[in-house]
Amino acid sequence: MINTLTKNLVWYRDKLVRRIVQKGPYFAQRLIVKQVAKPHIAKYRGKDNQGPEIFETVFFELRTRCNSHCTFCAGSVENEIRPDLNMPFAVFKKGIDNLKDIGFTGRVAFHITSEPLLTPNLPEYITYAREQLPKVWLQLLTNGRKLNPRSGTAVIDAGINEITVNYYDDACAANHDLPLPQNILKFESEVLTKRFTKGEVTTGHGPDPVKGFDVFRYNCNRRRMNEILSNQTGSSPNKSVMTERNFLGFCHSPLTDFHITTDGTVSKCSKDVFFTDPMGNIMEEDVMEIWNGKRFRDVHRMLLANDRNANEMCRGCDYPGFKTIHGKKDTLKRLLQHSIYGHKR
Ligand code: SF4
Repeated sequence: MINTLTKNLVWYRDKLVRRIVQKGPYFAQRLIVKQVAKPHIAKYRGKDNQGPEIFETVFFELRTRCNSHCTFCAGSVENEIRPDLNMPFAVFKKGIDNLKDIGFTGRVAFHITSEPLLTPNLPEYITYAREQLPKVWLQLLTNGRKLNPRSGTAVIDAGINEITVNYYDDACAANHDLPLPQNILKFESEVLTKRFTKGEVTTGHGPDPVKGFDVFRYNCNRRRMNEILSNQTGSSPNKSVMTERNFLGFCHSPLTDFHITTDGTVSKCSKDVFFTDPMGNIMEEDVMEIWNGKRFRDVHRMLLANDRNANEMCRGCDYPGFKTIHGKKDTLKRLLQHSIYGHKR
């Protein structure tokens, strides 16, 4: 009896929150956002409300190309409008050397809106990062199309700590009984299971809380190609409308992430797919000069004030902007995200 009552109450609560987020009055939407944002703002406030001293992850876009056809992404084969550019090694080296100088120990990844396994000589880049930054977690996020025993072995030999595959295929995502493609299955059976013991390969991200770097992380997620996600600040092909009167405020991305594209330009977030609102360029300034520069810090202060209005892109952006806070079960955040995207992810 009590269980049924609780279930009903939860159902009505969820329904009410969804309704408010999708169609409710602005003040009520803002109330929900303020409530969700509180612990996130507290976490990233930093000294004197200026934001964190340093970012958590540096993303290097080594090549401005993807080989997938996702309808939500401006970087997909049909939608990419940028020239096909590779990051010269000198640009990458400058970024990695800067990170070494400041003793960075977070995460380095090799994608933004792009597929890292399309980068010629990718292992060379990973090897350099591994040598210079032994305490940094190196992540390869890939759509899996180019993952096979050969490419997988090469990146593992180079020193990668994690391979996460987001495999985009509508049929596979809808039916988990359907097998993954041969190239991924072969990588799993011929490389993963042979190079590591069962206990060494785990799912999840980042160093293991107990074993640290003595694990290899492998995740394979089945995703839909035609998902409707964020509007990518107006560039998403299947959701290009910018939000009017945005009730969202805080966004973690510029407070945790540092995105560098092929020529060294730094953006404030991954939703600025074409780097149209640059924060600086690592070939002109050091990484920390850019992070502490006026442009980045203005964005930090704005988002920590739970406001998106002072930046044109943020003003129209519908990315919910909340990272999972470790150990916190945040029902309201989950509901907010599902309501914005219109479905569970
Ligand atoms: S609100 Fe959108 S545009 Fe602004 S920083 Fe966050 S993700 Fe980027």
